[in-house]
This record gives sequence, structure tokens and C-alpha cells, in this order.
Amino acid sequence: MHKAKKSLGQNFLQDEQIIANIIHQAHITEKDQVIEIGPGLGALTRHILAITKEIQVIEFDTDVVLPLKAACAAYGKLNIRQQDVLTVNFNDFYQGQKIKLIGNLPYNISSPLLFHLIDYAQFFKDMHFMLQKEVVDRIVAYPSEKNYGRLSVMLQYHFKCEGLFDVPAHAFHPKPKVESRILRLTPYVKPPIIAKNYQLFSEIVKQTFQMRRKTLRNTLKVLVCREKMQSLPIDVSLRPENLSVSDFVMLSNYIGAHSCQVI
Ligand code: SAM
Repeated sequence: MHKAKKSLGQNFLQDEQIIANIIHQAHITEKDQVIEIGPGLGALTRHILAITKEIQVIEFDTDVVLPLKAACAAYGKLNIRQQDVLTVNFNDFYQGQKIKLIGNLPYNISSPLLFHLIDYAQFFKDMHFMLQKEVVDRIVAYPSEKNYGRLSVMLQYHFKCEGLFDVPAHAFHPKPKVESRILRLTPYVKPPIIAKNYQLFSEIVKQTFQMRRKTLRNTLKVLVCREKMQSLPIDVSLRPENLSVSDFVMLSNYIGAHSCQVI
């Protein structure tokens, strides 16, 4: 009997109705190449395998390997990569067909993992993740909502972001202390609006949200010289939380084009 490890965010799904619902929402077909992050004891894995007959999983905990293999044996071919997902290079798995990524994620690494996955967005068909509800709410938030921030802007730039449904704590063992929600991320083949200098866009989003209560006039001081501040295509008395993804892109394109960077 495997003892759940809190340090690895091990809350195993045990509600078959919820598991069926996640698999249904992920629209997996037999032709899909699927990678699962954190398969644990195989609650989702065996259902995916029943459709695809082969799956790649990335799991940090060597102790789950035996029970995982046993749970999946009857359904298809299980390829296990024993590694910290934060260090995985997803190029390794790409064979020309876009990959479907799925996982009931360890909540303690969800933000760094989502930022890590941005780098490989073009390899993915879509992603379906179980996350802490509060994190999903941040990802799908609109400008000026209190939970709108860097995570919302950066993920919404790359992906269509959809919160699908809530999962109650009693669907897991052991029960997590937080509420959970299913998130779908679908990478844009081409973002609706393109940052001409992605590094600059990303830096502006990061810098401004580091001091989210300050006006843009204050936070942009480190990036924009004083004489250019008034000609920026946005109202600098606003705060970063008031800007849409398009506003941030427009702002970074303007700053990039008018070489008014201080750094
Ligand atoms: N998919 C299983 C389920 O739904 O019952 C388990 C989900 S559990 C919330 C998270 C899983 O991610 C665990 O199996 C845990 O060992 C694994 N995990 C935690 N940190 C990881 C990391 N850095 N890289 C890869 N897997 C990790």
C-alpha cells in the first residue's frame, strides 16, 4: 500500500465519475500522442491507455512505479520517464505530431511548471490540468479583476484558457485542503496579437506586476526614459492590472520600436 507523500503533492483521484469526466473533456482519440505529468497510481493513466494503447508519463516518485505498472498492465504500453517535470525538455518527445498533455498536477509546482510549458507551447495540441481552483481563477481572470496578474497575461498570450469544472476535495485521497478545478489550455497557432520583441514584452509584464499597486508611470521608470513617458500609447496613471494582454503587447511593441528603453 503506497503512503501518499505530501511533499510531492500526492492527492490521488479516487472518484470514478470525476475521472470519467476529465477523460471525456480531454477529447482523447486512439490516434493521439498523450503525455501525462504525475501519473501517481494510474487513476487517469489506465483510462487514457484504454483509448490510445500507449502513453508517455513523467513521474518523480520511484515508489509509485510498481503499483502504476500493475494498474496499467492490462490496458497498453506504459513508457515511464522518472524525472522532475520542471527539468524535462519536451523536444525529446515531439515526433511531428502535436502532443496532448494531461495531469492532476502537484499544486506546489504549478506556477513554475506552467511557465516551463510556455517554452514548448508549439509542440502541444492542448493541455488538461487539475489545479488549485484559485490558480485556475487567476489564469482565466479578466483585466481589472483582483486575481488578474502576470500568470493571466503570460498564459493568455500563448493559450486560449478555459476553466472547465470544479472538483470537490472528497474526490481525492488524501483530501486536499484546497478546492480544485480543471483547466484547458489550447496553444494559439499564431497569438491573436504578436509581441515583436517577446523578451521585452515578458520583462514589462514581470516588472510591472512586481509592484502591482503602483501606477505604470512609476513602474515603467526603469524601462522608459522620462521624455518618452508621455508619448506611450497607454494611460500611465493606470496600474498593470488594468491592462489587457493586447495593451501589454502594444506597449512593448511601442517601447521596442521607439528605442526608449533605459535598460
Ligand atoms: N495522477 C494521479 C492521480 O490523479 O491520482 C496522481 C496525482 S498527484 C496530485 C501528483 C503526482 O505528481 C504524484 O504522483 C507525484 O509523485 C507527482 N509529482 C510531484 N512532483 C513532481 C515533479 N516535480 N515531477 C514529476 N512528477 C511529480
